[in-house]
Amino acid sequence: MYEELGISKEVEKMTNLAEEEVKNEFQKINKMCETNTLKVLKAFQDNNLSEIHLGSTTGYGYNDIGRDTIEKIYAQIFKAEDSLVRNQFVSGSHALTVTLFALLRPGDTLLSITGLPYDTLHEVIGIRENKSSLKSFNINYEQIDLVDNDFDYEKIKETLKNKKIKVIEIQRSRGYSSRKAITIDKLEKVIKEIREVDKDVIIMIDNCYCEFVSEKEPIEVGANIAVGSLIKNLGAGIAPNGAYVVGDKDLIELVAERLTVPGEGKEVGPSLGANKQFLQGLFFAPSVVASSLKIAVLTSKIMENLNYKVEPKYNDVRADIVQTIEFGNPEDLIKYCQGIQAGSPVDSNSIAEPGDMPGYDDKIIMAAGAFTQGSSIELSCDAPIRPPYIAYQQGGLTYEYGKLGVLKAVENILRNRK
Ligand SMILES: *Cc1c(COP(=O)(O)O)cnc(C)c1O
Repeated sequence: MYEELGISKEVEKMTNLAEEEVKNEFQKINKMCETNTLKVLKAFQDNNLSEIHLGSTTGYGYNDIGRDTIEKIYAQIFKAEDSLVRNQFVSGSHALTVTLFALLRPGDTLLSITGLPYDTLHEVIGIRENKSSLKSFNINYEQIDLVDNDFDYEKIKETLKNKKIKVIEIQRSRGYSSRKAITIDKLEKVIKEIREVDKDVIIMIDNCYCEFVSEKEPIEVGANIAVGSLIKNLGAGIAPNGAYVVGDKDLIELVAERLTVPGEGKEVGPSLGANKQFLQGLFFAPSVVASSLKIAVLTSKIMENLNYKVEPKYNDVRADIVQTIEFGNPEDLIKYCQGIQAGSPVDSNSIAEPGDMPGYDDKIIMAAGAFTQGSSIELSCDAPIRPPYIAYQQGGLTYEYGKLGVLKAVENILRNRK
């Protein structure tokens, strides 16, 4: 069958070999999938999830028992006091924005301790000028960069001793940078150190791409609030949009009153048919995250065998579902992305080309043949066209189609070389 799909014997053989080499990693991923599946099922059962919760509301969305049950289930899974899981969030960036505006007041200071935050937050914070930014409301921003892929513990403690910080933001996944993702162990360590000097500072986690990659989630190791997108890990390709925020009850209330109306908060917000999709997405999420991780591990091994620089290595401990491949030249990078596109279930006939994107200085190439627009829990690969030409690949609803995408990508590079 692979031959019929344009894969040469050479590439098929190379892949079979790599699959042999990553067997142990796959076993670990299977174990993690089992643990997280049980965690989800226990939350469904403890909250008496019933058929009635699969229905939904319209209009104001009063008494939406499905929505309210979903929020109890999310809170349990994250070991948090409360949660907000809504399709009124346009994206992960929107949920991060609403959370920041909910927690910060004029004169307050936001501190990022993982360097420059995700691109879409630059105009939100005011790192890039915007007349609706936090900065325009007189909210200050400070940043401490990572040092050798770890926190700058001394500088963080010194800053907290010398001035009042309201919110610390920690972004776990790498964004468009070459740094490593932040593991739960590292997160636990830095939170302990922060608490030694400041008991009150709100610790907020950008948890995008990290859910169900590990056994624990951020609230369990002391974070106050965590945010993520439902067209990534927890939506499993089934949630059509939306995002979640989990954390301390008083903070979730602030976020709810910023998202909806002060005085109404969590009580309003119609689910508009999304309850079943959110629940089914959450049900599949551990398995879809596992498929994504297996595709990332396989990609890492195949590309390493072809002498490309990869991060993480196939046997590294992972904290997110992103795999980076450094191509060193634009031709291979573009061919790789075009191969991913050609292997997709949707839009396989489209040819990905680098193009201009609002908010980015370089041209960007984006390969994704997804059922849901912009969904990056489906196999997708994107890259800014700048040295050293790094591709960011993530997602994969099933292992088998993800594998085909990677094979197509590799085939495309090798064929171009000949
Ligand atoms: C994807 C992502 C976001 C933003 O999520 P969207 O849903 O695309 O707006 C924020 N932070 C990180 C680290 C991400 O990977």
